[in-house]
Amino acid sequence: MKKILVTGGAGYIGSHVVKALGEEGYELLVYDNLSTGNQWAVLAGRLVQGELADRSALDRLLMEFRPDAVIHFAASIVVSESVAEPLKYYRNNTATTLNLLEALQAHGVNRFIFSSTAAVYGIPEVIPVDEQSPLLPINPYGTSKMMTELLLRDLAVANPLFRYVALRYFNVAGADGGNRIGQAYKNPTHLITRALKTAAGSYPELQLFGTDYDTPDGTCVRDYIHVDDLASAHVLALKSLLAGGESAILNCGYGRGYSVREVVDLAKKITGVDFTVTEEDRRDGDPPALVADSSLIQQLLGWKPEHDDLEYIIRTAWAWEQKMAGSI
Ligand code: UDP
Repeated sequence: MKKILVTGGAGYIGSHVVKALGEEGYELLVYDNLSTGNQWAVLAGRLVQGELADRSALDRLLMEFRPDAVIHFAASIVVSESVAEPLKYYRNNTATTLNLLEALQAHGVNRFIFSSTAAVYGIPEVIPVDEQSPLLPINPYGTSKMMTELLLRDLAVANPLFRYVALRYFNVAGADGGNRIGQAYKNPTHLITRALKTAAGSYPELQLFGTDYDTPDGTCVRDYIHVDDLASAHVLALKSLLAGGESAILNCGYGRGYSVREVVDLAKKITGVDFTVTEEDRRDGDPPALVADSSLIQQLLGWKPEHDDLEYIIRTAWAWEQKMAGSI
């Protein structure tokens, strides 16, 4: 069976992909510094704790494991933090990926899947946004990911053996259908998680950032994708690369937008808790609307989402929140 190195595989999205790859029988090595990830989240393969910036550790790992492909999740992901601490993002996201790519080139590893983001589009002129739209990120998080995409593009030109798939994630949410893993950040910032933790009583109120956007109800619109559907996109991208497929850059979303107010209302309905919501100023770095045109990934990889349903997304996230509150 093919051997896959998964960086950041103990994190939220990485762990769901590791679960899916484990079910497919791949031999997995998860490399994670556990700064935001968790050992218990790694349901398949072997976990090695280490830093991507540590080139000699990477060299040893690559020499020993000899992966056929790498899936690279390890990154910093909080937009507002990236505005406050841009260099952290250029270090952790761009420079660290450069270090990883140099190591992979030295060891002849030429199949690479990269976690990119809809934040590379900034404020798109046309919604839904397709992959040809200009890259105009409006925060350092988006810029750090865009710069990595450019590294990959140029490397693929220079080395025809190198093939990659960059997956541009929209708003990933929800938890494992079997309720074994889910989001477990120490200081979560994402809307659905904040809303559910507020319903559970962990926070006194949910702050709603911005009610004066040029959107139907004045709040931001996002395309929420269930983490298990995102995981299946990775499995398909990997199979394509291992079968000799071309490099590709693909949006991962459902093509359907929900406003912050709609998400909050549904979270209240599902939890049965009428939690307090306060209306605040806009948060730095937030674009008004981000919705994917995901026709390319469906066409190219045959990706078929199974959980295109905001209610399922919130229900699985809620089940996970309740489990975490009780046990972890
Ligand atoms: N949001 C909010 N309150 C929160 C967290 C998020 O109003 O506590 C809003 C945020 O301003 C944005 C949307 O919810 O408009 C989605 O934010 P999130 O952080 O979940 O994802 P992002 O789109 O930034 O990746």
